Amino acid sequence: ENFYQQTTTAPTSSFDVSLRPPVFSEFIGQEKVKDRLLLMVEAARQRGDVLDHVLLSGPPGLGKTTLANIIARATGSQLHVTSGPQIEKAGDLAGVLTNLQKGDVLFIDEIHRLHPAIEEYLYPAMEDFRLDIIIDSGPSARSIQLNLPRFTLVGATTRSGMLTAPLRSRFGLVNRLDYYTQEELAQIIERSAGLLDIPVKNEGSMEIAARSRGTPRVANALLRWVRDYAQVKSDGTITGPIADSALAMIEIDAQGLDEMDKRILEALIYKFNGGPVGVGSLAVAVGEDAATIEEVHEPFLILQGYLQRTPRGRVALPAAYTKIGAKMPPPTDG
Ligand code: ADP
Repeated sequence: ENFYQQTTTAPTSSFDVSLRPPVFSEFIGQEKVKDRLLLMVEAARQRGDVLDHVLLSGPPGLGKTTLANIIARATGSQLHVTSGPQIEKAGDLAGVLTNLQKGDVLFIDEIHRLHPAIEEYLYPAMEDFRLDIIIDSGPSARSIQLNLPRFTLVGATTRSGMLTAPLRSRFGLVNRLDYYTQEELAQIIERSAGLLDIPVKNEGSMEIAARSRGTPRVANALLRWVRDYAQVKSDGTITGPIADSALAMIEIDAQGLDEMDKRILEALIYKFNGGPVGVGSLAVAVGEDAATIEEVHEPFLILQGYLQRTPRGRVALPAAYTKIGAKMPPPTDG
């Protein structure tokens, strides 16, 4: 288990929760998404209406759950949290939906992993606040209709491309969260450090930010590690050099690549001659599951210009050869 996997795929820790900004004004970055959400909240408030359904997409750890919390708070409503894989049967969904009060926010994480049969039940619930359920089976099967209170569904997905068209069309907009800039991450780190009473110098927060792969959850996790290091090895203040040696100790390089990122690039270059290669073969070669490669590692490697997704598979870009210290093959025409 590498450090990023622990921080990007591990269940939310109490540390995460305590550092979660509670209001839009403390939520750093993602200006476009924030502006749209603020506008929706204001419009609903003026009409005295329930907020429209909202879809949030983007890699793990960028703030989707945090935004769902902020939306609930901004609309003065109760948040209910569940996820696609948790809803196994139609009855599970019925249970969740019938528990809602008017105006409540229902957050469904990993909504792309909802079972198609269950998705069907969600359509009328989202559109007409109605639930059609079939009870009994065989000749005595009959459908009953339940009216639901008006509620707001906030769906989150790491793979907006995997959402079915009918589900996607029931949300007004897809709000895509992007990786954060180094400056934004440094601000997040300084905010967290303030809350935790950790003295941090600007070069210290910038150093941590540079290695956080554009992800606030990673930034906060690295901050926690660097705090321990600064406390034991120095006077507790996080300076640039302290952050640098702390992060070197857990083998996170200056660009924020971790062991698995490097393994993916090495496999691509040495085992598959730089590609193109399918993600399935790459997954077997590095011993990681394909979905994790696609959702956690690839988006960052693509953003940083190490790797490209082509119709024929993944291809290593020149930056990947430089990173790994491998020689570029001569160009071919094909
Ligand atoms: P996701 O649901 O997209 O996986 P989370 O909402 O759980 O991500 O965010 C992970 C952690 O990162 C949160 O606990 C919060 O502390 C921090 N965080 C995320 N986005 C921001 C932000 N824009 N400003 C400050 N902190 C943030």
